[in-house]
Amino acid sequence: MRAFVMKSLGAVDFMEKPIPVAGPNDAIIKTTRALICTSDAHTVHGAIGPRENLTLGHEAVGIVHAVGSEVKRFRPGDRVVVGAITPDWGDPASQAGHSSQSGQPLGGWKFSNSKDGVFAEYFHVNEADANMAHIPDTVSDDVAVYCADMLSTGFAGAENAHIPLGGTVAIFAQGPVGLMATAGAKLRGAGLIIAVDSIPARQELARFYGADVIVDNSKEDAVEKILALTGGIGVDSAIEALGADITFQNAIAATKAGGTISNIGYHGQGDFVHIPRTAWGVGMAEKTIMTALCPGGSLRMERLLKLLEMKRVDPTKMTTHTFSFDKLATAFDIMENKKDGVIKPLITF
Ligand code: ZN
Repeated sequence: MRAFVMKSLGAVDFMEKPIPVAGPNDAIIKTTRALICTSDAHTVHGAIGPRENLTLGHEAVGIVHAVGSEVKRFRPGDRVVVGAITPDWGDPASQAGHSSQSGQPLGGWKFSNSKDGVFAEYFHVNEADANMAHIPDTVSDDVAVYCADMLSTGFAGAENAHIPLGGTVAIFAQGPVGLMATAGAKLRGAGLIIAVDSIPARQELARFYGADVIVDNSKEDAVEKILALTGGIGVDSAIEALGADITFQNAIAATKAGGTISNIGYHGQGDFVHIPRTAWGVGMAEKTIMTALCPGGSLRMERLLKLLEMKRVDPTKMTTHTFSFDKLATAFDIMENKKDGVIKPLITF
């Protein structure tokens, strides 16, 4: 089969690989749709260290090609979504409610990290019964593929932010994850949703997904503006969806005493992320910092699919480009270098 791989640091290409084989609890999926993620580019540039001939990608849907002898819920031919994070469900961290951290910190993240990813004609899924979900007939692959990471991560940002019904929330950065955090904040009943971004197309999408106020951080100080919008005290909840030191600091400074900062940004650079001391109430302002890696698992995927089935959210507004698998190198370049107003490139197989 063909696979699109990270040859070495900074280098990508196609190569031939054998179709993977399923162990007793595993499944092999024939890929039908995939999405490129900014974190795929981070990976190629060394965020998780060097890798050789590692198949990229972690967001995909497909058709079950083969299952192991112990798999009970799936058969060849089933349409499935697979979470970007595929935890080991028997691990103590999973049993404690932190399945994304199974095995080791971030250990639930296997695709394009500790094993080959999904940018291939076929890919392997561990613990298939617990890590895949059936796609309802009324949900197309083009829509369902957003469950794998974008919906799961963005909504986790909103869930972890403990947004009070009618409360105030600021979402820093409106890339695809931030946009889904905005959509999640609306679904969670936020009273005032403030979205921070400087790119007009993203501002427009933020409004579509539920933002009431847009703060353009290229034209005004985001923290000052958010404080002004909230009577000088800050928001109940702030969501960091970029992964930058300054954005993280702003999220803390824009949150009221007793509020929650929810980080879903991928902090891939630098040795430290800083906390602004006085805005943190010299350590005593009872501001909670939450962090998360995309939740995986069949139950999570089924619930996200239910939101799509009931049309609570339409993630396809983020699909700015569509490419066939053989054009993946072009698509990857567009995503890596943020060309042509890209938000999410969809790959068809
Ligand atoms: Zn992703």
